[in-house]
Amino acid sequence: MNSPLPFHLLAKPTGAVCNLDCKYCFYLSKETLYPESPSRMSDDVLETYVRQLLAAQRGLPEVSVSWQGGEPTLMGLDFFRRAVAVVERYKAPGQRVQHTMQTNGVLLNDEWAAFLKEHDFLVGLSIDGPKAMHDAYRVAKGGQGTYEQVMRAWKGLSRHGVETNILCTVHAANGDHGLDVYRFFRDELGAKFIQFIPIVERADENTIEKASDGWGARRDGERPFYSQHGDLVTERSVRPDQYGRFLSDIFDEWIKADVGTIFVQSFDAALANWIGQPSMCIFSPTCGNALALEHNGDLYACDHYVEPDYLLGNIADTDMAEMVISPRQRQFGRDKLDTLPRQCRECEVLFACYGECPRNRFLKTEDGEPGLNYLCAGYRQFFNHVDRPMQIMAGLLSEGRFADEIMGMQPDQA
Ligand code: SF4
Ligand code: SF4
Repeated sequence: MNSPLPFHLLAKPTGAVCNLDCKYCFYLSKETLYPESPSRMSDDVLETYVRQLLAAQRGLPEVSVSWQGGEPTLMGLDFFRRAVAVVERYKAPGQRVQHTMQTNGVLLNDEWAAFLKEHDFLVGLSIDGPKAMHDAYRVAKGGQGTYEQVMRAWKGLSRHGVETNILCTVHAANGDHGLDVYRFFRDELGAKFIQFIPIVERADENTIEKASDGWGARRDGERPFYSQHGDLVTERSVRPDQYGRFLSDIFDEWIKADVGTIFVQSFDAALANWIGQPSMCIFSPTCGNALALEHNGDLYACDHYVEPDYLLGNIADTDMAEMVISPRQRQFGRDKLDTLPRQCRECEVLFACYGECPRNRFLKTEDGEPGLNYLCAGYRQFFNHVDRPMQIMAGLLSEGRFADEIMGMQPDQA
């Protein structure tokens, strides 16, 4: 047997099709990649996907079968019942599978929640903060806010005991209100797992105007296709300094009383880097192990690079494991390190940042070298801000103690 491949794959059973029209969601524009096809994953593709994934990852402690969109719940519950059945059919004895789904929550009801609980799905629910911040960009096709619907979904999932992660994008409308956003999730929703994702919508001179109107379909049929080009960003995008402050403000609150009870992915990821074991692709030296599968079986290098130049092939023709280890995909992953500009290579927080994701590297450095991350100023501020407490927590862990002991330390110890 070949050694197992620890890659992660996000499958998009409806492609880019979604029931909402969130202004910043560039993935909506990917619908134009498949104009002819009905954008629904067939049972054949479902079976091929699950069979190849479970075979490639046999021997790993756990396999993640992950659904994302577009909006995966548009496939209907029966599709996911079949998906779970296919997993059961192909699972090797003892192989542990974690089902995950990222959703906007609009279609969830008691029947869905009971199903998700029964099969231990880990659900990522998109909420951008209190009503005004959430409704700023997370809107339905008619432009109306979706806050009430997502709150209904949150309560339903909580009632059924479904493990739920909040996915909060950080943008112009909530970027100055980190503490309000965090306290809302912690105190009003009772959330335990929170992920923050910076919104950086790239555009160039030709696309910026249309991009500013959002990425959904237009009545006049004219829409920009999102690709990783250009050095402009939409006004919805978070500013670098704003993102750094957003994270730092929340960190200062979290470190006082919430270590070990509230899990903020950015802080866990940072601690992993202080320990020397990066856990997220964006903060690792290389990447290339987080791929995206479109509804028709097309496999792309990464969820953020679903565009023709990064299409690796189709799983009906080539086994996904072969494409994951292909020289082309390995080179994609190595480029993350090889293209780091000197400013990053000499940066005091390189070990924590590693230039973040290549998709955001479209600025020039102080010396005029291309490839500096748009969010650099924010990350540099944040990683320097958390250095001391991170060192202390990393030290505690290395002594076999708990990171949350930092909360009981006197100021002169911490
Ligand atoms: S391109 Fe960015 S998001 Fe994609 S795998 Fe690399 S670091 Fe991760
Ligand atoms: S903080 Fe800026 S300079 Fe430092 S590694 Fe990150 S992107 Fe590069």
